[in-house]
Amino acid sequence: MPMQLFVGDVVVLKKPHPCGGHNWEILRTGIDFRIKCLTCGHSVMLPRIRLEKGIKQVIKAADVAQIGQEQ
Ligand SMILES: [Zn+2]
Repeated sequence: MPMQLFVGDVVVLKKPHPCGGHNWEILRTGIDFRIKCLTCGHSVMLPRIRLEKGIKQVIKAADVAQIGQEQ
């Protein structure tokens, strides 16, 4: 069963980016995903299967918007 991942969702990865960030926004889905580090703004492309293995938590786009409103 593939993970439900959509553009706008934020994923928390097990392994931090060299900048120290764990949160990435999904910019593009497909066989290859493009994700952007929310800490430093760097974006990378990687195969879906590799991304899925590294995900610790998924924050849905709707919840991301809610968090934004609270700040
Ligand atoms: Zn980063």
